[in-house]
Amino acid sequence: MTKQELLNQIQQVKQETDTVILAHTYQPPEIVDAADITGDSFKLAAAVAKLPNRRVILCGVDFMAETVKILSPDKQVILASPNATCPMATQIDPSRVRAFKQQNPHTAVCCYINTTAALKAECDICVTSSSAVKIVNAMEQTDILFIPDQNLGRFVAQSCPHKNVTVWDGYCPVHNKVTPQQIAAIKAEYPNTPVAVHPECKPEVVALCDMAGSTADIINFAKAQAGDVIIATERGVAEYLNLHETTNKRYIQACGDTLICPDMKMTTLTDLLAALKGEGGKEMTVDPTVRAGAKAAIDKMLAYGG
Ligand code: SF4
Repeated sequence: MTKQELLNQIQQVKQETDTVILAHTYQPPEIVDAADITGDSFKLAAAVAKLPNRRVILCGVDFMAETVKILSPDKQVILASPNATCPMATQIDPSRVRAFKQQNPHTAVCCYINTTAALKAECDICVTSSSAVKIVNAMEQTDILFIPDQNLGRFVAQSCPHKNVTVWDGYCPVHNKVTPQQIAAIKAEYPNTPVAVHPECKPEVVALCDMAGSTADIINFAKAQAGDVIIATERGVAEYLNLHETTNKRYIQACGDTLICPDMKMTTLTDLLAALKGEGGKEMTVDPTVRAGAKAAIDKMLAYGG
C-alpha cells in the first residue's frame, strides 16, 4: 500500500470507529501528520479526557498511553506500536519507593510523568518537565525525593535552593548522552544563535544553553525568536518546527542523528492502521487500585496548577 493509500484508510477507519489519534511530538513526521492532536505526554492525556470519542490510539510509548487511560478510564486506549516503551519509566521498582517512604516518612516523593502507573501510585505527587520547578517550590515539604530522572531532579534542586532535593539515579538514555563539547561545537558553528535544551540533559549541558524546558516550552521559545534556534532535544522537535513553522528561520538540530529515541520512532503508518482496525497495537489496562493512586498523584499536580 502506498503512503497516501495508508493515510486515506487511516482517515476512513478513524471516522468509522469514532477514534481520536494522538501523537507525541517525537513521533516520525508522517505519524504527526496523521494525528488529530500532537504534543507532549501530559498535554495529550489532558486534551483527550475532554473529548467525546470512545476510542483513542496513542502513537508514542507505553507510559503515555497509560497516562491517557488513567485520565480517561472509560475510553478504549490503544498504544499503536505495542513494544514502544520508555527505558527511564521503569528504572525504579515501585517496592523501592515504598521502602524509602517507610524509612523517610517526612520526605515527599515527587515523580516525573515519565513513569509507569505503578510507580506514580507510590508517589505523593507527579510533575511534568514544565511544572516541576513551580510545583517543588510550592510544596509544603522541605525534603523531597525526585524520581527517576537525576538530570531533571538536579535542575529542580538548583532552581529550588531552599528545598532539600534528593535525586534518584535514573536518566533518559537519549538526552543523557549529550555532552558539553557537542553543545560548545554547535555554538561555535552557529555563533549568536540561542540554544534550547531539555532538562533531561546533564546540568553541565543545560548550563551552556539559553533556555531549558519541556517539549512545549522549547517549541514556544523557538517560535518566539526572531532568528535561527539550535534545538538540543530529541530530533522530532526540530523536525516538527521545520515542517510546521512556515518562516525563514532555521531550527538547527544539535548532535545530529545521535538524538533519536528509538522507541519513539517505532510507530509506522501500518502499525497505526492495524491498531485502528483492531488488528494490532496494545490495549492499555490499569488495575483500579493502581489507577486510583496514580490519579491522586496527577490530581495533586493539577491542584498546584501544573
Ligand atoms: S526520549 Fe528518553 S524519556 Fe523520552 S521516551 Fe525516549 S527514552 Fe523515554
